[in-house]
Amino acid sequence: MTFLLEPERKTPVVNEVDVLICGGGFAGVAAAVAAARNGASVMLIERYGFLGGLATAALVITTPPLNNGINREIARRLKDWDSYAPTPDSDAADDSDDVDGLAGLLPFDPETVKFEFVRMLQESGVEILFHSYIAGVVMDGRRIDAVLIENKAGRSAIKAKMIVDSTGDADIATHSGAPVQEVERPISMMFNMADVDTDRALEHLHSWNALKGVIRKAIADGDLTFDLGVDPDFGAPGIYAANLVHKGQIGVWGGMMYSNRILDPMERTRAETVTRDHAFRLAVYLRKTIPGFENARLEQMSTEVGIRATRNIEGEYTPSKQEVVRGDFTDTVVRPYLGKNLALPFRSLLAKEVDNLLVAGRCISAADEIMGRLRLIPVCSATGEAAGVAAAMAADQDVAARDVDSGALKETLERQGVVF
Ligand SMILES: Cc1cc2nc3c(=O)[nH]c(=O)nc-3n(C[C@H](O)[C@H](O)[C@H](O)COP(=O)(O)OP(=O)(O)OC[C@H]3O[C@@H](n4cnc5c(N)ncnc54)[C@H](O)[C@@H]3O)c2cc1C
Repeated sequence: MTFLLEPERKTPVVNEVDVLICGGGFAGVAAAVAAARNGASVMLIERYGFLGGLATAALVITTPPLNNGINREIARRLKDWDSYAPTPDSDAADDSDDVDGLAGLLPFDPETVKFEFVRMLQESGVEILFHSYIAGVVMDGRRIDAVLIENKAGRSAIKAKMIVDSTGDADIATHSGAPVQEVERPISMMFNMADVDTDRALEHLHSWNALKGVIRKAIADGDLTFDLGVDPDFGAPGIYAANLVHKGQIGVWGGMMYSNRILDPMERTRAETVTRDHAFRLAVYLRKTIPGFENARLEQMSTEVGIRATRNIEGEYTPSKQEVVRGDFTDTVVRPYLGKNLALPFRSLLAKEVDNLLVAGRCISAADEIMGRLRLIPVCSATGEAAGVAAAMAADQDVAARDVDSGALKETLERQGVVF
C-alpha cells in the first residue's frame, strides 16, 4: 500500500456542547434524552437522516418487552400509535437456533420509531445533526478535545466536555486509542413482505418456524441458490415475525452470512450486494411456491445489512455471563427488564485510557458469551440511559467519567423511573 501526506488544514469548530452523542440508535437516543433531561446541553450526530439505528435501518423490528426506565416511555409512545405489539395475533417466532437466543419478542413499527425518536429529542432540547459521518477525533492527552465529522459542508469539529460513543461499532473509542476487541458475528439482511394471506400460509406451514425447513430443502434441491457461506442447518432464512403491525405483514430473516472482515469496506460492500440479492430471490421464491404468498409483495428491504457486532470496548470491567445474570454488582446502573436480575455495572460503560468517554449500546464491555443477550434492544437503550445521565453528571461536576459516583448515578436513574 502507498500513502500520501494530507496537507495541514484549518477545521472549523461548529459547535461546543456539554455532551456529544455519537450515533442515533436506541442507545444514542436514550443517552441524548437522559443527558438533556439532566441539565446538559446535548448534540446528537447521526450518519443517516433518521434515528433508530439497526432497529430502523436494518429492520430489526422485534424486541423483548420494553418495560423499565426509558424503555417504558418508548413503549408508551409507540403504543399511542398502535405501533408496539399491536395486533392480538402478532407472532414472533421462538427461534431456537437464532444466535441471539431470541424468544418472547414483540413487534414494533420502525417508521413510528423514527418519528417518535425525533420528537423525544426535540422535546428534550437535544440538537440533532443528521447526514454527518464521524471521521475521527482530536485528542488532548487522555481527553477527546473534539470529534471530527464530514458532511456536505465539508469537514468540521465539535467540542464537548463528555462524549458518548453509541455508534454500535465503538468508532469513537477506536479513534481515540481506547482498547477495543474486534468480534465476529453472522450478518443478516432483513425484509418485510405485505399482503400475505397469513391464515392460509399458516395452514400450509403449521408453524412459522417450519418455513426454515422448506427453505433448507429448496437449497438442498437446488431450487434456491444461496451462497451464504454458512451451514444452512444453522443459518437458513426464515420468518421471524408474522402479522407485525398490520395483519398480512411478515418480517423475513434473510439468512445468515459469516464474514470475518466486515470492517473492511470492500467486504462490507460484498455483504450488502450478496445478501440483498439473496433476499430478493427469496421473496420471489416465497411468492411462487408457498400458499398464501401468491399476492404478497416485497414491501421494504433494509437500508443496510444487519451487522450484529464488530467491536466491543475493553472497559474498566468486563463482567462474565454469570455475573451479568446474577446482576448484583456494587456499581449496578443498568437493569433493562422488570423482574429479571440481568444487570450491568457502571464500569462496563467506561472506556479505558480516555477520561471523557462513555460507551453505550452493543459495543459495551462484557464477556462475549453474554453479548448475544446484551445486544438486545432494551439493553442497548438501558445502557444509553445510564451513560447519558453519567455524562451529564460528569460534565456538570467537571470530572472524568470514571469519577462519577455510581451510587448517585443509580439514585438519579431510580428517581427518573428505573426500577432496580
Ligand atoms: C440481523 C439482526 C437481528 C437482530 N434481532 C434482534 C431482535 O429481534 N431483537 C432485539 O432486541 N435485538 C436484535 N438484534 C440486536 C439489536 O438490533 C441491536 O443490537 C441494537 O439495535 C443496537 O442498538 P445500538 O443503538 O447499540 O446500535 P445501532 O443500532 O447500531 O446504532 C448505531 C447508530 O450510530 C450510527 N453510526 C455508526 N457509526 C457512525 C459514524 N461513524 N458516524 C455517524 N453515525 C454513525 C448508525 O447509523 C446508527 O444509527 C438484532 C441485530 C441484527 C443485526
